[in-house]
Amino acid sequence: MNVLVINAGSSSLKYQLFNMDNEKILAKGLCDRIGLDGHLKHKPEANGKPVYDEDISLPTHAEAISAVIEKLTSDEYGVIESLSEINAVGHRVVQGGRKFSSSVLINDEVVAAIEDCVRLAPLHNPANLMGIRACQKNIPNVPQVAVFDTAFHNSMPQHAYTYPIPYKYFEENDIRRYGFHGTSHRYVSDIALDRLGLKSGSSKLITCHLGNGASLAAICDGKSIDTTMGVTPLEGVPMGTRSGSIDPSLVDIIASIEGTSLKDSMDVLNKKSGVLGIFGKSSDFRDIETAAGMDINTGFEKEGAPVDEKAKLALDVFAYQVAKFIGAYIVALGGLDALIFTAGIGENSPYVRRAVCKHLEGIGICLDENVNAVRASDYLDVTGKDSKSKVLVVPTNEELVIARDTIEIVK
Ligand code: ADP
Repeated sequence: MNVLVINAGSSSLKYQLFNMDNEKILAKGLCDRIGLDGHLKHKPEANGKPVYDEDISLPTHAEAISAVIEKLTSDEYGVIESLSEINAVGHRVVQGGRKFSSSVLINDEVVAAIEDCVRLAPLHNPANLMGIRACQKNIPNVPQVAVFDTAFHNSMPQHAYTYPIPYKYFEENDIRRYGFHGTSHRYVSDIALDRLGLKSGSSKLITCHLGNGASLAAICDGKSIDTTMGVTPLEGVPMGTRSGSIDPSLVDIIASIEGTSLKDSMDVLNKKSGVLGIFGKSSDFRDIETAAGMDINTGFEKEGAPVDEKAKLALDVFAYQVAKFIGAYIVALGGLDALIFTAGIGENSPYVRRAVCKHLEGIGICLDENVNAVRASDYLDVTGKDSKSKVLVVPTNEELVIARDTIEIVK
């Protein structure tokens, strides 16, 4: 069975076609600049066919899906004969609100519930809905499944998800912590539990999904009991361009400094803050580490390399805040079996893992610096000799989780 996984943004649409008999990717790609001019990059993975990488007109998401289908089935770039070889479609949906604690088959009622969550995720859910509607139009009569970023965190206890603001905002407007990256936290924690032989007994894990967007989760016996992102993905640790948790008064203060609106302040916190805000030149950790005089492959200092102080500070702030939340979650869990690093930075930056773990030495958690400096594309145990908890690198695969959930539900 083949499953098409769709991750629709406001002007982009990422896709992967999986053969779920062997979980191999047949093709993947990205429609970019939808509604502007349009660009499609389509990469067949299976049969040695060439990559398609061209500007093409993509006025709407429906036209983008139609272009994707054309490429997936074309003689030159295709990996399937016809549309009938797509057996199901799985959609990433960012916000599932209080209603969804697992993935669901999409019907009118589910679409209405996703629409109802637009007020909680005005930047993301409308785009996800455009992706769903585009597939309903272009791939009719094929079951579609919604997989929510928030669902895994629905197990959080009330004291973890309740904000200390007037309670009516929760009762009347559903304002609470929801958390995101749920598919990633679920996937890597599941692998870690399996590898550590902790699937059936009690277990305490902290997963650090450190990418452009970053969040941590405290996972007790396989269930999320707390996470750093909130009602939106702005809360928590500093990120590429997002501030993470700050004094909320800054929204007002920035607006008065700039003489602009509160909405403009939110733009500053979403798009111009985080490590980009401090360093000023890039939000990419490879650039920041290089500017800070680090060898990005080993995570160690490069002898004689110049050190940009702001780059160094951005990294210090990031590592400190991640470590602080780890400390908080050890309290939430009452201990820790394993600390797990994943996503672009967590998987690929020995420097960040080392910098975070330096803060944890006082509570008996450390990594093996030499093993940590090894590049791995798979599960890697970087635990230090005397560490009280395991420290692991587990590559994430959110698309595979979506494809697996989709197959499970469609079957
Ligand atoms: P997202 O999916 O949130 O867009 P990713 O999980 O792909 O983000 O992570 C992107 C981040 O990973 C970028 O900041 C990038 O610099 C960082 N990254 C990728 N490779 C490395 C590396 N070798 N060293 C340090 N950071 C890296």
